[in-house]
Amino acid sequence: MTIGVLALQGSYNEHISALRRLGVKGVEIKKPGQLDNISALIIPGGESTTMAKLAEYHNLFPALREFVKMGKPVWGTCAGLIFLADKAIGQKEGGQELVGGLDCTVHRNFFGSQIQSFEVDLSVPELSAQEGGLPSFRGVFIRAPAIVEAGPGVEVLAACPVSLKTTSSKSDADTQEVESLPEQKVIVAVKQGNLLGTAFHPELTADTRWHSYFLKMLAKEDEPAPTTLAVVEGG
Ligand code: GLN
Repeated sequence: MTIGVLALQGSYNEHISALRRLGVKGVEIKKPGQLDNISALIIPGGESTTMAKLAEYHNLFPALREFVKMGKPVWGTCAGLIFLADKAIGQKEGGQELVGGLDCTVHRNFFGSQIQSFEVDLSVPELSAQEGGLPSFRGVFIRAPAIVEAGPGVEVLAACPVSLKTTSSKSDADTQEVESLPEQKVIVAVKQGNLLGTAFHPELTADTRWHSYFLKMLAKEDEPAPTTLAVVEGG
């Protein structure tokens, strides 16, 4: 099994290292044709406008959309989550091209700028259920987005206190759009069929449980359809 990691910009090396720690081969994806040789794809964090410009330059968008539509597992972390969203808000100049597929609206810089980056322990029941699972996952949020709207088919895997969104950016028109959110928590990890999205950076921690979770999505997809087995007695 080979996992592709979109390697235009951002933390793709860290994802490849995390996969290696799990004994799985991760390969860099820079061109559309390379998507034909992989079973699943990770779109890393970085800077989504830059990544989108590079993806456009390499004519990757049609192939990425096709990959998502084929039902192959795709995981977007941070800027990668923005890429996968059907809609992004909080963008300065007219927005950027998105791959889409995830029935969500993502606020690009929900938690503020680089200096408002933070770490927090997130409760993630799906991961805690894993063998030997710790009760929480350390989320690393860097200029992090958040999911401000999710469609009915989207499963919420983790949420983060809105209070971690610092108030120093109150004058910023980008963040004002979400000031009125009634919820105390905002969604930061979701799953929708073959798509996984996290607003934080599991690849920057030593904890590989999110990578294992993603690999399990692939294993499920590869499972043969259940068949009725004839029971042979005696022997
Ligand atoms: N908010 C950033 C963006 O818009 C993403 C940050 C990240 O990937 N760490 O691209």
